[in-house]
Amino acid sequence: MSTPTSHVIIVAGAGPAGMAVASSLAKAGHEIIILNRDIKFGGLAEYGIFPAKLKLRGGLKKQYWELLERSNVHYFGNVAIGNGKDLTVEEVRSLGASAVVFSIGAQGTKAIGVEGDSAKGVFHAKDVVYHFNRLPGFGDRPFEMGKHVAVIGAGDVMVDISHWLIRYKKVERVTAIVRRGPAERKYNPKEIRMVCANMDVEGIANEVARIKDRLVTVGQNADEILKGLTDEFTKCEPKVSETKMGFKFLASPKRILVDGNNRVRGLEMEDNKLDPKGEDTVAVGLKQYYEFPCDSVVFAVGDKVDETVGLPYKSGLFVTNPNKTGNDPDDALFQAYDETAGKVVDGVFLAGWARKASEGLVGIAKRDGDWCAEVVTKYLSTKTPGSHSGTKIVLDKLASTLTAHKSHPVDLAGLRILESNEKTHWGEDCIGEFKFTNNQEMLKLIESGKA
Ligand SMILES: Cc1cc2nc3c(=O)[nH]c(=O)nc-3n(C[C@H](O)[C@H](O)[C@H](O)COP(=O)(O)OP(=O)(O)OC[C@H]3O[C@@H](n4cnc5c(N)ncnc54)[C@H](O)[C@@H]3O)c2cc1C
Repeated sequence: MSTPTSHVIIVAGAGPAGMAVASSLAKAGHEIIILNRDIKFGGLAEYGIFPAKLKLRGGLKKQYWELLERSNVHYFGNVAIGNGKDLTVEEVRSLGASAVVFSIGAQGTKAIGVEGDSAKGVFHAKDVVYHFNRLPGFGDRPFEMGKHVAVIGAGDVMVDISHWLIRYKKVERVTAIVRRGPAERKYNPKEIRMVCANMDVEGIANEVARIKDRLVTVGQNADEILKGLTDEFTKCEPKVSETKMGFKFLASPKRILVDGNNRVRGLEMEDNKLDPKGEDTVAVGLKQYYEFPCDSVVFAVGDKVDETVGLPYKSGLFVTNPNKTGNDPDDALFQAYDETAGKVVDGVFLAGWARKASEGLVGIAKRDGDWCAEVVTKYLSTKTPGSHSGTKIVLDKLASTLTAHKSHPVDLAGLRILESNEKTHWGEDCIGEFKFTNNQEMLKLIESGKA
């Protein structure tokens, strides 16, 4: 029930960041309208986090259901914002809410920018992750990986992709291609447990020996580093395939090598050395090149935001207010900023991976959402309560705009129908829980369930 001090807030994007913003502001008594591209809520918690992490995913799902069941929260799935989508940014802004928070994640793809990157067998990690998590548009597309897969990256996403290749695709070999050395690996040691039963420990020892001299020049002890790396191969998940996993260190892909059918046959790799940079190191190319044979390549090097949405954008990020106020938590800035006009976009905020692409785990995205809610609350305190349209007026305008655009929003009742149908199929799918992989199928089901 809205109170005289409550406002209508639109939250675009129902991932961990958006759900945190929505939760804080709903608990403060505001009316929340959630618009989400996917039919289902959760963002990467539903379509990114590895399927086997049932406890983490289940816990988040439970919290999100509780939030959506509040009477002051109104959910609209299958509503994408952007030019040529269900609603433009301007249409969302003109619905009459007091503030709009964009927590739409980092949906753009970083250009790989090496020759041959459009060859068959070159993939972006996000697409692969969406595929194995059954996101409509990706779940039913074939991802032919071949026998030997090179995964570019040294973070948790590299480990997740390797996990899928080992556990489900059961490929012969996975090689993580790492620009710097083993000491600069970025994955969480706990994550490596998912794949360490398949590690080619002898091959890894040979690889570290190969680069030993280059480690010594920056004061790194190769033996100690190898021990640290392999000591983490404990409490490994049981082995389910004969896949061998290894690493190629101090290596940068320069060119994708293709066969006569434009299919990946390998990588042209440049050897790197390490140079000190303060407390850290940087990789410096040595202009020594070699061929590295593989059948497919997955780039797990982070994402950027989707510049086509229509929010101010620069260099992979949506632009936020550069003028620190000192009031924002952690001096983190959440208001969208129009550089051409030289001012903030009034009432428009950013949170989570939409604000800082590919930064951190769910906990960080949630914290960002909480902070954003604090900033929005301060902003609302400068607005006169009741000066904006009431919830019904905003919801009616939203409904008529979506109808005019022939959109098919999915509400809470629709989500419930979907959930109960998916449950009846549990156990049928190798990823542990059943998911429909296309929107038409889901919409048909929801419509028939309502009848
Ligand atoms: C492969 C992978 C594995 C991960 N594993 C873990 C893990 O094991 N543990 C962990 O804690 N964290 C993990 N993370 C990190 C975690 O998923 C993120 O921190 C978190 O999901 C970011 O939340 P977000 O809300 O900012 O964005 P997202 O989760 O991306 O949510 C964005 C939401 O916005 C919606 N949206 C997108 N575009 C539009 C649009 N144009 N209009 C309307 N809605 C839109 C989407 O439908 C989605 O619901 C992983 C991330 C990846 C990529």
